[in-house]
Amino acid sequence: MINPLNPPQNITSTLCENRYTHLHAGVDFSTGKKNGLPVLAVMDGEAKQVKITYRGYGKCLYLFHKDGYITVYAHLSKFSEEIEEYLKPHYKKNPYPGIVEIIPPIFYKKGDVIAYSGESGFGFPHLHFELRKGIETLNPIPYFNFSNSSKIFLKKIVIIPEAPYTSINGKFKKVSFKLPLKDEINVKGPFSLGIEAYEFQIGNKRGIQGFDLYLDEKLVSTLYFKGFSYEDYYGIRFILNYLSFGNSIYNLNPPKNNPYNFFKGENYFDLKEGKYKFKVNVKGLSSEKSFEFFIKTSKPLPKPPILKENIFYKSHFFLSGIEGMFYPENINIFKVGGVDYYIGNLKPKEIFKIGPFEIKHKEKFSVPFCFYLTKYENGFLEPKTLQLNMEPKDLGLTKRAEINVNLPELKEKEKVGIYGARGNFYYGNNWEGDKLKAEVFAPDDYVLLEDKIPPEILKAYKKKNKVFVITKDIGSGIPWDGVQVKILGRDYILEYDPDHYKAIGELKDKGKGEIIVKDRAGNKRIKIFHF
Ligand SMILES: [Zn+2]
Repeated sequence: MINPLNPPQNITSTLCENRYTHLHAGVDFSTGKKNGLPVLAVMDGEAKQVKITYRGYGKCLYLFHKDGYITVYAHLSKFSEEIEEYLKPHYKKNPYPGIVEIIPPIFYKKGDVIAYSGESGFGFPHLHFELRKGIETLNPIPYFNFSNSSKIFLKKIVIIPEAPYTSINGKFKKVSFKLPLKDEINVKGPFSLGIEAYEFQIGNKRGIQGFDLYLDEKLVSTLYFKGFSYEDYYGIRFILNYLSFGNSIYNLNPPKNNPYNFFKGENYFDLKEGKYKFKVNVKGLSSEKSFEFFIKTSKPLPKPPILKENIFYKSHFFLSGIEGMFYPENINIFKVGGVDYYIGNLKPKEIFKIGPFEIKHKEKFSVPFCFYLTKYENGFLEPKTLQLNMEPKDLGLTKRAEINVNLPELKEKEKVGIYGARGNFYYGNNWEGDKLKAEVFAPDDYVLLEDKIPPEILKAYKKKNKVFVITKDIGSGIPWDGVQVKILGRDYILEYDPDHYKAIGELKDKGKGEIIVKDRAGNKRIKIFHF
């Protein structure tokens, strides 16, 4: 395959990078912060389909190649002339018509211009590129020729206790060590490993391609992102700190009930007394780097310590004062400081009820979980329920979970929606009678909030025949069609770009009119404006 951009560009993001709610399903090419670079067919193929949506991939083109390969080009500013011509009648009905089949398909030779890069859909100017076959998205990197050198950075090694009595340098919790590391680490009890690493090239950080882990020269764990099935799109389980937006910490041991075909090895280590050499070889796009460290193991204490501040370790359900690993089959309730902690294993397809919340577990295997309710005291909006807390947050889901909330006593439901309690991320207000339904991506904290605060219009101005509206909203946020103009009996929907809090529209009329801004909860702000 040839580079899809002219002139050729670097890869800024790789397959399987953590996108908090899902895995990155392709690679991103830089467009030097610009729009309008010619996008080329990476090999001979037929343009059979486009997809045009307001968010997500924006303007997106699908090329079909021989042997069932499909290449996908997203966030485009426009398609080739002949495709744009074909789409004209579709645009008339709707500027975002979704999937449109191209009949008959248009054939392109390798290197032909098929589109122009842009920033449509989500994010800033770049080209998102995918190589697909069947239900799998494949890592396209081995199919390209990259001569630029890159550098791997190894930041930290993390030792994770796998039993309540495991201690790491005397501490009964997860411990990180900066790399390089000369001193040996003392571990008592079973443990697993994690690594913080990334690849760096020309001002840009990106995810690694994989690693091999050796214990005394024997390969014990290996990961290589060769691709994944769309079934595992939400499968962020192998990233230890997936809730953070910084560098990823990768598990060096695959999780129990490992759902990934690209990750193989032992789930944890339970080693006899001795001194062991571990070697990790981290692979990048055009480089590799390895390092060694030593772990000295000895017998754990006969009794685990009693932890007063926490009834469980953040990443594992080790209860204080209880000997042995604690993974109860059924849900158990533990009262600590007036709070009921529900701890246990959620079985496949099981529904768990706590307060008004109902959590529908969709995984194919049992997952250890802890749920508890606390008071929400985090923001500007009024809570209508307690806050549902889910632990452990560093064991991600591989499928979306469903949360239903039953609130028959709540009278006015219209402006009440479900939010992530930490960042006030809005999951919607999809009420069916007394029940609110939401899909969530990861174990997090959730709460029902009422948004009565109307959005603000910070600024509105005209430039030639275009109108610009700058907005601000606390709470549910403004949807893409949330900014309207009413003038001389005509309605216009302005295109709202949430990345820049800005709506732009082209008007045919002049005179006195109204700008109307609505948020997702239905709150409205109106401003009189002379267009
Ligand atoms: Zn991308």
